[in-house]
Amino acid sequence: MSARETHDYDVLVIGAGGAGLRAAIEASAAGAKVGVICKSLLGKAHTVMAEGGVAAALAHVDPKDSWKVHFRDTMLGGKLLNHWRMAQLHAQEAPERVRELERWGAVFDRTKDGRILQRNFGGHSAPRLAHVGDRTGLEMIRTLQDEGVHQGFDVFMECTVTKLLKDGDRVTGCFAYRRENGRFLLFRAKAIVLATGGIGKAYKVTSNSWEYTGDGHALAYEAGAELIDMEFVQFHPTGMVWPPGVMGILVTEAVRGEGGILRNSKGERFMEKYDPKRMELSTRDMVARAIYTEVKEGRGSPHGGAFLDISHKPADYVKKKLPSMYHQFKDLADVDITTTPMEVGPTTHYIMGGVRVEPDTGASTVPGLFAAGECAGGMHGANRLGGNSLSDLLVFGRRAGLGAAEYAKKTGPNPPLDDRQVQAAEREMLEPFERSGSSPYDVHQRLQECMHSLVGIFRVEEDMTAAIAEIGRLKEDAARVRVTGSREFNPGWHLAHDLRSMLVCSEAVARSALTRKESRGGHARLDHPNLDPEQGRRNTVVRRDGESMHVSQSPLPEMPAELRAIVDAELEAVKV
Ligand SMILES: Cc1cc2nc3c(=O)[nH]c(=O)nc-3n(C[C@H](O)[C@H](O)[C@H](O)COP(=O)(O)OP(=O)(O)OC[C@H]3O[C@@H](n4cnc5c(N)ncnc54)[C@H](O)[C@@H]3O)c2cc1C
Repeated sequence: MSARETHDYDVLVIGAGGAGLRAAIEASAAGAKVGVICKSLLGKAHTVMAEGGVAAALAHVDPKDSWKVHFRDTMLGGKLLNHWRMAQLHAQEAPERVRELERWGAVFDRTKDGRILQRNFGGHSAPRLAHVGDRTGLEMIRTLQDEGVHQGFDVFMECTVTKLLKDGDRVTGCFAYRRENGRFLLFRAKAIVLATGGIGKAYKVTSNSWEYTGDGHALAYEAGAELIDMEFVQFHPTGMVWPPGVMGILVTEAVRGEGGILRNSKGERFMEKYDPKRMELSTRDMVARAIYTEVKEGRGSPHGGAFLDISHKPADYVKKKLPSMYHQFKDLADVDITTTPMEVGPTTHYIMGGVRVEPDTGASTVPGLFAAGECAGGMHGANRLGGNSLSDLLVFGRRAGLGAAEYAKKTGPNPPLDDRQVQAAEREMLEPFERSGSSPYDVHQRLQECMHSLVGIFRVEEDMTAAIAEIGRLKEDAARVRVTGSREFNPGWHLAHDLRSMLVCSEAVARSALTRKESRGGHARLDHPNLDPEQGRRNTVVRRDGESMHVSQSPLPEMPAELRAIVDAELEAVKV
């Protein structure tokens, strides 16, 4: 093998958002030598962009809140498709993970008596989101980074992993390149934790930033791991719709949590029609479909959305509780939200589906490969409740870090990396410079258009079949894309690789969505508009079969009777 920069670790974490950092902290604390790789600068991840808060049943505002109520809300919000064990661990451990952050230096907003303050969010039946104004993720990442610095793991910034390397069934390392100069590097590791976040960039309108091309999902799939429930994509109800350059940027649910009201062009508070009990604090899937329907039926705002109004609250209060939103609208849309309603509409936000993991350890179905955070599946079922991602990544980031460190302890020394796999990974990266096909930007634009219009908020068989055919053509075109220039700072070249990940994820979403012939949570089918109890007992499973994608369904794990009783009980009986 030619001489290349090579690094050796017990545990290698791919991704430095909340899940990756929390995993790295835990693996280091367990004595493992840890490396962390991230596609952008350390600290620049979706976690830092999280606004509204982290959900944990601390019971500081509502003393009747408990892990049981949180578990029940999460399962009902996920339309009972969640892995019960993940939802249980999440609800039980989230409070301690938040208190731990506080011990490590996070400064949350406070109640009058000095405890962590909690706010309302859709689908939560108690004020449950610990927050720092609307900049919660920033404080979380700052705290995790500080703690991580003390643990002393290595960080490789602006490095993209393009391939996992294996020895037989087992993952033993990965191939990556430095974005700055295009140089290749190799990592050997006893265990790898994927924590690469979401897939939003496969869609045209999204709250996600450029890194979110589903790399972890695709790396796992290509290495032979199973993905589950990929049909469940969350369309957040409130993204900016105007001006065009900022379309899709998130308008945090905290606006509704703080009392924001949705109206249509006739001034009607339309959530009365769709969910009169919970109104604006209904689950995200419901509110997104409500806004979409109002616009489709001709009652949209001038730029094709709905009005979200918080101007009835005192201006100082709005500026204090929602400072980022105040500046976002003032700077980007010239709208003062303390006096004027915002225009908002659905935006692709989050993927509930992901790498199938063992709940207690984060182990995937491939030995040595673990996953946590948004790229892992199972925790949120058919629909994620707001605030449950930040708590998910703390709970399962920690567990995956520990699981990986324990696996590494039991594993012998790393075998040498397979030169043939390395050569193939390198060839794959260099080929775009030698081709004569179209531009990766054209292929990306067509993919985003296809996913937006054919596998979006409402789905029908005909559209999804057309999407799968178009994805097939796009795969052929992506295999021919041409890149010009050098390997230094070349975004077209980076996109040529990212396209591969987005195409794997898009195909998995479209094929899974076609397979699930019912409507549930984030997956709404016009040709199968109802819940189907039979399909509600099954996960959709995607795995690689040679060069083809194989989709099947497998039974949900049986929920123990004592947990089933919590889910089935009336809220008042659980909230005591
Ligand atoms: C605007 C916005 C607001 C949100 N607000 C909230 C909220 O208030 N509450 C809540 O619970 N959730 C919220 N979410 C969702 C939540 O922030 C994310 O789901 C969560 O942060 C994901 O964390 P993660 O650790 O899994 O991944 P991320 O934080 O997304 O980090 C992924 C990491 O992987 C790296 N990476 C990706 N691909 C590669 C590769 N190939 N090689 C190397 N590195 C790679 C990235 O560079 C990054 O470091 C919000 C999301 C957005 C976009």
